[in-house]
Amino acid sequence: MTKYLVLILVIGVVIWLVTAANARARAQSRRGEQTASTPVQDMVRCAHCGVFQSKADSFEARGVYFCSREHERLR
Ligand SMILES: [Zn+2]
Repeated sequence: MTKYLVLILVIGVVIWLVTAANARARAQSRRGEQTASTPVQDMVRCAHCGVFQSKADSFEARGVYFCSREHERLR
């Protein structure tokens, strides 16, 4: 009888270990997806109105960034 109890205990521990390892792997892959779907973008500030936006959407003039051509002109 004790033999079966030990066997059940061992099976229980193995199942727990596998579940814990799976949960960890899932959490890690979720984190990986998040960083992949939201790449770090260079944010710059408009020198005229101070709004933050990505560097790719901004207009640069002599090292200063603007949110629009209008604000670049108004500087
Ligand atoms: Zn602006």
